[in-house]
Amino acid sequence: MLSVEGYEAVVVSLAGLLPVDEVPLAQARRLVLAADLPALTSVPPFTNSAMDGYAVRAADVAAPPVALRVVGDIPAGASSAPGVGVGEAARIMTGAPVPPGADAVVPVEATDQLPGAAPLPAEVTILEAVAIGRHVRRAGESVRVGRVALAAGQTMTPGALAVAASVGYATVPVRRRPRVAVLATGSELVSPGQRLGFGQIPDSNSVLLAGLAAEFGAHVVLARAVGDAPEQFSAALSEALAGADVVVTAGGVSAGAFEPVRQAGLAGVDFVRVAMQPGKPQACGVVEAPDGGRVALLGLPGNPVSVFVSAWVFLRPLLAAMQGRRSDWRRVEARAARPWSSPAGRRQYVPVTLAEDGTCIPSHALGSGSHIISALHSADALAVVGEGVERVEVGDRVSVHLVG
Ligand code: AMP
Ligand code: MG
Repeated sequence: MLSVEGYEAVVVSLAGLLPVDEVPLAQARRLVLAADLPALTSVPPFTNSAMDGYAVRAADVAAPPVALRVVGDIPAGASSAPGVGVGEAARIMTGAPVPPGADAVVPVEATDQLPGAAPLPAEVTILEAVAIGRHVRRAGESVRVGRVALAAGQTMTPGALAVAASVGYATVPVRRRPRVAVLATGSELVSPGQRLGFGQIPDSNSVLLAGLAAEFGAHVVLARAVGDAPEQFSAALSEALAGADVVVTAGGVSAGAFEPVRQAGLAGVDFVRVAMQPGKPQACGVVEAPDGGRVALLGLPGNPVSVFVSAWVFLRPLLAAMQGRRSDWRRVEARAARPWSSPAGRRQYVPVTLAEDGTCIPSHALGSGSHIISALHSADALAVVGEGVERVEVGDRVSVHLVG
């Protein structure tokens, strides 16, 4: 049996980095930055006020109360600002440029003036002393021109998009989304919502895998069920290979008599056993597409919980590697609130629900059974139980990998 890390390394090596496109910020959300972005402008670009109030010379107001002559108004967006001399102040708003001569801002609440829309007074009485630099945001104090504001591998979250905009970018270089085709194998499968005949079940793996692939950053080009007959699978695989960078299959890789992925005789695809539970039978390799292109194939077992776990453990890092994504799987520690057992010699992944008190419980009362799909929606994380552990007791610390 292969270790989880050993097999993950094989999977990640199946595909190279995807090509780069320069795209507008609004189209870059969730894509992965392909190059470091040095700041084109400083943040903030000019020294500005952090408060609504009066720009002053700190030395003038060291012994309050002090009356100062008001020389002008500086709203945000002002195209010029009056200089502030000794004994003078300028009314200033948050984000407006601090005028020459001033070195601090006194909030309006620390003056004799009322906050809000009011005519510009001729004079203001300052009621509190301020230190030099108080309530002033200095040009470049957050980011200096030329400093790397976002590093390659960064996922373009809404926050990252805002950073890119703030340092001067309208477009960013990102990796193209991996195109993923999903084939759920099984002659027992019917489309969701269809009436079930004898021995039939709804195909839940297609939507599960399509959804997970999309969350891992993929463009899902195909997701459907296919029967176990070899010719049906071969036809569906040809269709899937035509437009995809990665084909993910579910089912048909284990030891049964009707295992279409195994029986397809695909050169370059290895069938292995991985020391994990669930998810022991796995398959992967590189397959030639009809146009001669190389497509990564990931063959997952069919049980829905195995699919869920295998997708997180193997499909996620494969798609991350193709996109050059930096972030790793987020993990925290939790204490088990229920006991459960774990197989010797295999790493166990148990869908768990996290509680606010730092504990976790298996999402389903029956624990880790790989066929138990009905509690998958309440799994916040996968608890990872080491190969050498055979029982998790109440209060034991377990590493949980977040899947939310
Ligand atoms: P297999 O790996 O093909 O032997 O499938 C293992 C188990 O998962 C069987 O009980 C299947 O009926 C079930 N299964 C396989 N594919 C799906 C699917 N797409 N949706 C729901 N259950 C499935
Ligand atoms: Mg099957």
